[in-house]
Amino acid sequence: MARNPTRQVRVGPVTIGGGAPIAVQSMAATKTQDIEATVRQVQLLEAAGADIVRIAVDSRKDVEALAEVRARTSATLSVDLQENYRLAEIVAPHVDKVRYNPGHLWHHEREKPTRDKVAFLAEIAERNDCAIRVGVNCGSVDPVMIERFGDDDVGAMVESALEHCAMLDDLGFTRYVVSLKDSDWLKVVAGNRRFATQRPDVPLHLGVTEAGMLPEGEIKTRLAFEQLIPEGIGDTLRVSLTLPFEEKGTEIETGHRILDDIESGRFRGIPTILPEGLNIISCPSCSRVENEAFIDLARDVREMTEYAREHDLTIAVMGCRVNGPGETDDADLGLWCGPAAVNLKRGSETVGAFPYDEVLGQLRVELDALIAQQSG
Ligand code: SF4
Repeated sequence: MARNPTRQVRVGPVTIGGGAPIAVQSMAATKTQDIEATVRQVQLLEAAGADIVRIAVDSRKDVEALAEVRARTSATLSVDLQENYRLAEIVAPHVDKVRYNPGHLWHHEREKPTRDKVAFLAEIAERNDCAIRVGVNCGSVDPVMIERFGDDDVGAMVESALEHCAMLDDLGFTRYVVSLKDSDWLKVVAGNRRFATQRPDVPLHLGVTEAGMLPEGEIKTRLAFEQLIPEGIGDTLRVSLTLPFEEKGTEIETGHRILDDIESGRFRGIPTILPEGLNIISCPSCSRVENEAFIDLARDVREMTEYAREHDLTIAVMGCRVNGPGETDDADLGLWCGPAAVNLKRGSETVGAFPYDEVLGQLRVELDALIAQQSG
């Protein structure tokens, strides 16, 4: 397939960009400190054909666990720095790539200029033979960009990525890739196209966040990838699915299947827009998930809401308090998981926190009310 002339970025033994095969990657959906579970997920992903496996790190204890995981696998590892960018210093010796989110970087140590924080990360990466991913999420762009771009959230996402590329270039660090993600595949297509027009040299990591469960999660992802990859956009990808622990390798298999189909011209004849009706968004879960019951909850929500599938409504189901409250704001109804209770929202308003075995009943009440409102 013809690709954009991106530069090559080496991530351990894997090459991203510059005509290399599109690398397929995923992330361990475990608490990193549960070393046995994390090693098991890395193995599952590797066995399914993952080129790179990402692990989330939020604390020094997570880094200690990461070191143990590193010692027990030969997989090419990347780390998601999440909120605490300074952990990069002790993380980088164990991995081949670090990912930071410019929005999260803005919030951490606000008194410090962003350029200084980026310089810190670039220096650490350089010293430890690591690549960097600038991972921009449409839902967590920094407030300065949001103010500048108003309703054009795709514009804010693209500008944030361009700004960080300029800082890294200026610092003489070019071993980086960029991702521009959202749970809305149309925004993923628009953002990546806009970015690739301005920086065709920068390798892109493609993905639709919180794509949800199968089969919808695959469909949303296909919709984005089938637009972008034939245009030469995309050098590595992740398919983000809500899956039970032992089935995590399905993310990698799905990624390879989509790529094979695109490469052989087997497009699925899917519509350019998703059919109307109920849209369920759910995160793929990660080390932050607050209760293992999250995966079952996501499935139960889909089953229980089957009766409403003709209605144009969005329900978001998220695994934790860090991203859950913000990422459910745009949905008609949102659920984000705490350790013992699930928080239910109507738009950005909180309805209440309910035990796991009661929340479905409350969700039904809210859903019925919205349907009545739509019909009335
Ligand atoms: S919403 Fe929370 S648990 Fe789910 S993937 Fe995002 S950070 Fe992880």
